[in-house]
Amino acid sequence: MPLGPKVAFRIGGPAEVLVRPHDAAELATALSIAREYGAPVTVLGTGSNVLVGDGGIKGLVLRLAGELADFHVGFDHGGAAEIEVGAGALNAPLVSMLLHLGLVGVEFLATIPGTFGGALIMNAGAHGGEIGPFVEEVGVVRIDGTVERRPGRDCDFGYRRSGFRPEEILTDARLRVPRGDAAAAKHHLDEMRQRRRSSQPHDQPNAGSIFKNPPGDFAGRLIEACGLKGRTVGAAQISELHANFIVNLGGARAQEVVALADLAAAQVKDRFGIALEWEVRRIGEHNSSGDPGN
Ligand SMILES: Cc1cc2nc3c(=O)[nH]c(=O)nc-3n(C[C@H](O)[C@H](O)[C@H](O)COP(=O)(O)OP(=O)(O)OC[C@H]3O[C@@H](n4cnc5c(N)ncnc54)[C@H](O)[C@@H]3O)c2cc1C
Repeated sequence: MPLGPKVAFRIGGPAEVLVRPHDAAELATALSIAREYGAPVTVLGTGSNVLVGDGGIKGLVLRLAGELADFHVGFDHGGAAEIEVGAGALNAPLVSMLLHLGLVGVEFLATIPGTFGGALIMNAGAHGGEIGPFVEEVGVVRIDGTVERRPGRDCDFGYRRSGFRPEEILTDARLRVPRGDAAAAKHHLDEMRQRRRSSQPHDQPNAGSIFKNPPGDFAGRLIEACGLKGRTVGAAQISELHANFIVNLGGARAQEVVALADLAAAQVKDRFGIALEWEVRRIGEHNSSGDPGN
């Protein structure tokens, strides 16, 4: 099953097996089959923060669907509400529902492409907000079939990271979102979207920021200062609009993206002494460069 068309970068080889479990029972069955065959398991959301290797992904690739991609209000406290969110739910419709109910503070999430599970793993954030502080509890299933409800305070959320381990599949979460001025929140969301449209290459396939911002600086500023805007390797290009984005000009290969990112990181290191850290996750088989991914 080709994965390129299913991820934001439009890059990557095939999934050996792609399964869309719709509920906990289907997920448990898929995991028990993977265990029986000793197959590795990878979960993909919308693939907006991954670079899939040109060799594809071995074993089982899961995309959560059905009940595992649903959301609803669990408990209304008056001043706040608890929301049950499946890890496969998309961010933008979730935020639309919250605003419709007068629940505010999470609007930034509607500007970040992806699923709620991907947002939890990455502690996705933008415009001064991040999802971690809203999380009360996360449902986790390990590949060995054991399950856990983990309190948000134990998820070790940090800047574009969390403490979830590779063998842990997030199934759902409970959020606590306060009530507030929904009209003002919608206005703020419109402004954030507008800002993005003018500063990010939304019309070319990409996976968002390639590198995390180093403390006190911006990866895009450093790469631009090295004169790398517009630089290409094959069909991968450092965006002319935002230097921390690599765009796929059409038919780019993962190894070209890695080569271009390595070139940018090396020049930033030489010129500023700063080691850039990948934000995009390299997953699957990056054989050609011998890169095991991260
Ligand atoms: C144009 C653009 C702009 C972006 N802007 C931002 C931004 O402002 N802020 C920001 O934080 N990010 C941004 N991103 C990156 C990306 O949107 C976020 O990281 C998003 O949260 C990823 O969600 P996803 O569903 O696409 O995850 P994927 O990319 O599919 O997966 C990301 C990682 O999470 C793992 N994963 C996904 N779901 C699960 C699960 N249920 N259980 C276990 N592991 C799982 C995957 O295996 C992978 O390692 C941007 C991306 C693009 C393309």
